[in-house]
Amino acid sequence: MKKKCLLICLLCFFPWALYGQDPLFFSQSLIQIDTTNPPGNEIEAASQIQTWLKEEGIESDIIESSPGRGNLIARLKGNNSGPSLALLGHLDVVAAQALEWDFPPFGGFMEDNFLYGRGALDMKGMVAMELSAFIRAKKDNLPLKGDLVLILVADEETGGALGAGYLVQNHWDKIRAQYLLNEGSIGVLKEGMHLYPIQIAEKGVAWMKLTAKGTSGHGSMPHKDNAVVHLTRALQTLNQHEFPIVPTQTVKNLFTLMAPHLPFPKNWVARYFFHPLIGPLLQRFAKKYMTGDEKIAAILSNTLSPTVLQAGYKTNVIPSEAIAEIDARIVPGETPEGFLKKIQAIIGDKVNAELLTTSLPNESTMASPFYETIRRALTEMDPQAIVTPMMSSGATDSRFFREKGTLCYGIIPLLIAMEDIQGMHGKNERVPVDGLKKGTDTLYRIIQLINE
Ligand SMILES: [Zn+2]
Repeated sequence: MKKKCLLICLLCFFPWALYGQDPLFFSQSLIQIDTTNPPGNEIEAASQIQTWLKEEGIESDIIESSPGRGNLIARLKGNNSGPSLALLGHLDVVAAQALEWDFPPFGGFMEDNFLYGRGALDMKGMVAMELSAFIRAKKDNLPLKGDLVLILVADEETGGALGAGYLVQNHWDKIRAQYLLNEGSIGVLKEGMHLYPIQIAEKGVAWMKLTAKGTSGHGSMPHKDNAVVHLTRALQTLNQHEFPIVPTQTVKNLFTLMAPHLPFPKNWVARYFFHPLIGPLLQRFAKKYMTGDEKIAAILSNTLSPTVLQAGYKTNVIPSEAIAEIDARIVPGETPEGFLKKIQAIIGDKVNAELLTTSLPNESTMASPFYETIRRALTEMDPQAIVTPMMSSGATDSRFFREKGTLCYGIIPLLIAMEDIQGMHGKNERVPVDGLKKGTDTLYRIIQLINE
C-alpha cells in the first residue's frame, strides 16, 4: 500500500481552502467522512456542509429521516421571474474493500493529479462541485430569476427511501424546483471522442421471484415432476427469449446525434435503426453494431438477469420447490405488472412469477431550454464535447422528482477515461483534480445561463 501524508496534501491546498469554495478541499474532506451505506450515517457529512455554508452566511436545514440519516437543504431566493433550479447529490457511498485499493478509500489521498477515495466519482466529487458553485452564486451576489436549491440526501445507494424519497414525500415544499440537476451520467473519453451523455431517462425495476413446485422424492428414482428441472427449463426459455427493441424517444435521439461521429457502417446503422422502412431490417440483421456496447444493449429493450437460485438441501432428495430471483428492468412505456404478465406467458404455468421490488421507468424530454443550457455550458467548457441524451439502465434519485413533474437531467460535468468508470462501486475510485475545478465552473455557468 502506498503511503502519503494526508497533512501535506491538505497543506498544499490550504490557500484554496481559505478561499472557501474549493471543490478539491470539499471533496477531500467529504471522502474522509465514512458514509458507507448501510448504515450511512450521513448526518456527519451533512453537519460538516452546514458548517461550511454557515461560514458563508448561508442558512440550511438538516432533516433526519431516521437517527443519523441526515438530509441537507439550502435555498438562495430568486425574484420569481424565471425557473428554479435544484442541485441534487447524495452523501452516502457504497462499501469499499480497503485491501484491494492502492490508497485507503476514506483517506482522500492524491497522486498524479487524481484524488482517490470512495465517492470521488459517485458522488462526493459532484456534491463538492455543486456546493462550490452554490457558494459562488451567493458570494458573487448572482442575480437569480428563480430559486437555487441545494439538496444533499442520504440513502441513495440502497434505494433512497430515507433520502430523496423521504424528502419528496414529506417535505416537498422545501425542495420543489422546476429544473433539477443530478448524477446519472458522466463525460467519458472513448475512442478519441469526448462524450457527454445527459441522462434524461431511466429504466424501471421489476424484480421477480420465480417459484417452481414439483413432487418430492428419492433422488435414486427420477420422475418427471422435478421442481429443479421445471425452474431451470423456465430460466433457459427466458434466456433464449429475445425481447423486442423498443424505440423510446431518448434512444432515437441518442442514435441520431451519435451517428455523425461513428465510423462506417455503424454510423449508417445508427442513423436508420428506427427508420420506418429499413429500421426493422437493420434491427434484425445489423443489431450487433448497436448492441456490442452492453450499456446501449441494455437500454434498447426490457431485460432480465437471473441472479439468485435456491433449491434442495441434500443430494439424494428431490425437493418440492425451487426458487429463482431475476433482476428485470423495463423501458419507458412498460409497467412492472405488464412485464410480469409477459414473463408468465413465456415460462408457462409450471413456474409461478411474482413481483418483488418495483419502480416505474421515467423519461424527461430533451426539448427544453434547460437541456440546451447544459449542452451550451458543456460545449463552452470542452469545445470537442459531443452532447447527447441518454437513458440509464439503473435508477437514480431523479425518479422521485420526475414522478412529481420536475424536469431532471443527470450529468457529472467531468471528462474521465473509460476505465475509470469501473472505480464507481469498484476499487481505486478517483477523480481528476483539474476536472473538479472545470466541473464547478461548468455548473456555475449553467446557473448563470438559466438566470440570464
Ligand atoms: Zn450515485
